[in-house]
Amino acid sequence: MSTTDRNRTANGDASATFDVVVIGAGIVGSAIARKLAGHELSVALLDARDDVGDGTSKANTAILHTGFDAKPGTLESRLVREGYHLLSDYAERTGIPIERTGALLVAWTDEELEALPGLKEKAERNGYDRTEIIGPAEVYRQVPHLGEGALGGLTVPDESVICTWTTNLALATDAVRRGVTLLLNRRVEAVEERGGTTVLRTTGGDVTTRWVVNAAGLGSDVIDRMFGHDRFTVTPRRGELLVYDKLARPLADKIILPVPTSRGKGVLISPTVYGNVLLGPTAEDLTDRTDTGTSEKGIAFLLEKGRKLMPELLEEEVTATYAGLRAASDHSDYVIDADARRRYVLAGGIRSTGLTAGIAIAEYVAGLAGEAGLELVPREDLPEPPRMPNLGEAFPRPYQDAARIAADPAYGRVVCFCERVTAGEIRDAFRSPIPPAGLEGLRRRTRAMNGRCQGFFCGAEVGRLLESRGACVPHENREHGGERRSPEARR
Ligand SMILES: Cc1cc2nc3c(=O)[nH]c(=O)nc-3n(C[C@H](O)[C@H](O)[C@H](O)COP(=O)(O)OP(=O)(O)OC[C@H]3O[C@@H](n4cnc5c(N)ncnc54)[C@H](O)[C@@H]3O)c2cc1C
Repeated sequence: MSTTDRNRTANGDASATFDVVVIGAGIVGSAIARKLAGHELSVALLDARDDVGDGTSKANTAILHTGFDAKPGTLESRLVREGYHLLSDYAERTGIPIERTGALLVAWTDEELEALPGLKEKAERNGYDRTEIIGPAEVYRQVPHLGEGALGGLTVPDESVICTWTTNLALATDAVRRGVTLLLNRRVEAVEERGGTTVLRTTGGDVTTRWVVNAAGLGSDVIDRMFGHDRFTVTPRRGELLVYDKLARPLADKIILPVPTSRGKGVLISPTVYGNVLLGPTAEDLTDRTDTGTSEKGIAFLLEKGRKLMPELLEEEVTATYAGLRAASDHSDYVIDADARRRYVLAGGIRSTGLTAGIAIAEYVAGLAGEAGLELVPREDLPEPPRMPNLGEAFPRPYQDAARIAADPAYGRVVCFCERVTAGEIRDAFRSPIPPAGLEGLRRRTRAMNGRCQGFFCGAEVGRLLESRGACVPHENREHGGERRSPEARR
């Protein structure tokens, strides 16, 4: 496909027959679309929702896992390990914020203490050899505010925290810049084979394609059945979390993990790249795949856990609560497979590690599709990856950058005071390759309304900016001879 043809389909036009349609614009689907668009293929990234990254990928614990505690020998173990390095490199190139906090896994009972050598050995079998078993004195030296009763710990110095929102947006933006057509508001409801192509019947009309990749997260088993398979069932496993105010951050400057159980990684305390502290998640199997509300029971459970882990944390203020749904399945590993006859690849059962593993999953899926017959001719005209706006507290933000403000005063006009988000950043979000559809999308792109007032103070102004899609914020670039306006005209 020529670059012109590629550009022609880069505007949401679904009338062409695509070479590949990727269903699901979460981290996994966006990474796959980006990867495939590195080849001479016309690719569409399709989602039921009105924005990218609006499913599980927006509401997780945001830890970049080393994979130290994965089940050795599984595909998940391999792809998390590879994904850790691939995402670290990609974050460096695109500006996705990462904080290299490290983690400390804490043993609170004799049984948990006895499990530490096994966990160390498991980490080594997973290719990670930097863990260290430490005694209680060292545990308290490293985390002085930990609750009483810790018996020992295992250090995992390379576990890190990352911005999941920017990760998803960077991958999707990169995909679009590579010529991927983004098709939003299109829920796939049925599929039909027609003369060597597949027609996806969606709520936004039919989409025709030669190949399909199913990265539909919580809906991936439903789509898989539309292709005639019956090999796994997704169970939405809800994880609820509490977000503590920024004043709590000095209490926890590393990730504090429990000893994992068969049901998951357990309740942890983690710093966030936005300067807050998380307590969570719970792990509760539901039947409703849309139930992302928090519950009284879940919050009570977290508070009880938190009281033991770090009583001082509970004295701090909670800024927000949220819940995400893991796409748990009846398999103990990712379910990734290609069906050459149907020209179809499934990337399902990506439970609690998909943020970390996404880019590695994309590499693996492309390999499988190639083996199954998808012609993969690398492109030579690939654009550089995008440089994303920084949402991380540990890195310079526009309101702190005097030169940037002098060149464009919109970066000095703070709109969201809790998170110090400026009018310039909000305007830029609307001018970006994938502008937000609403307030929630704007929050994920800028942090606006994400602070302790949760939009109480800035909500009206942010809403006004949303209405004008940022057009009411002038754009000046004095360094580059841009328009100069008087302060009166700017108001
Ligand atoms: C509480 C919690 C904590 C977690 N913590 C971590 C962590 O610390 N580190 C980590 O690496 N991972 C973590 N994860 C896991 C990680 O968030 C997920 O594995 C990852 O986000 C999955 O991405 P995805 O693209 O597969 O799914 P999603 O982001 O859910 O994307 C799937 C998309 O498919 C779309 N879709 C579904 N059905 C259809 C349809 N019929 N038609 C069209 N579109 C459809 C949806 O709208 C959605 O946008 C956590 C998850 C949870 C819930």
